[in-house]
Amino acid sequence: PLWVKVVLVAGACLLALWLDAASTARWMQRAASEPAQLPSAETLQQLRDINLLALGLAPAVLVYHFFTLVRRQHLAMVRLALHDPMTQLFNRRHVQATGEALVAHLLDRPQGGPFSVVLLDVDHFKRVNDTWGHEIGDRALRHVADLISRTARTSDVVARWGGEEFLLLLADTDEAHALQLAERLRVAIAEDALVAQDQPVGLTVTIGVAQSLRAGSFAEVIRRADAALYEGKRQGRNRVVGASAVGTEAVPTDLAGV
Ligand code: GH3
Ligand code: MG
Ligand code: MG
Repeated sequence: PLWVKVVLVAGACLLALWLDAASTARWMQRAASEPAQLPSAETLQQLRDINLLALGLAPAVLVYHFFTLVRRQHLAMVRLALHDPMTQLFNRRHVQATGEALVAHLLDRPQGGPFSVVLLDVDHFKRVNDTWGHEIGDRALRHVADLISRTARTSDVVARWGGEEFLLLLADTDEAHALQLAERLRVAIAEDALVAQDQPVGLTVTIGVAQSLRAGSFAEVIRRADAALYEGKRQGRNRVVGASAVGTEAVPTDLAGV
């Protein structure tokens, strides 16, 4: 680990400084007892240069390593704050903040295009856990997370929204285009089964899609994607539903988004 390196470098710097001081002291001692052996002015000059160099270099190396250590720990902390440790996707907090920033951006630029939210929920995931155990359940979630990451575009924000729910934030994308991506995700997940104990663990997802509206909060977009997802579950799962195809009156809260 890096802190071991920093300690070793600090030790090496101190040793170098000590050797430097010790050799200088020996020169001085010898010069005092045998003035005839006093080094030439040129040698003294060189000795002074070497000392200055050592004095400047050792702390510089130490400081450099120390700051590398601090920077890496800072980056690790930022990563931890924004990501879900199990899937390595972004976490709910980050996607929430990004979504709210997109809403603010839309308010600033009324002529800008909408963004979309794609909400995925793994179908009958409780059964997967009950049949295969929690550990393979975890592997299944990582598998789904990988497939989503690979299918999404680089500009999409992919997050783990909750237990077996995932959310994609698509900037500058309307519902029609988001539906296309959602369908690609659904097919990719349905067709690429995870293999555990030499057997396929079949997984499907139901997906709700909603685009942002002119005047509305991020929470409102999520609610509409959630309602579409709920409708997909009601229709039999393993399907994609757009919010525009769902009435806005019944907004269930018992599924997803928790
Ligand atoms: P539906 O098709 O209606 O979504 O059914 P479901 O079984 O997927 O939905 P339900 O909400 O009843 O169950 C979700 C399950 O997901 C229950 C919970 O134990 C499991 N789960 C949530 N987070 C994790 C996790 O991190 N690892 C594992 N292995 N299971 C999880
Ligand atoms: Mg589920
Ligand atoms: Mg769920």
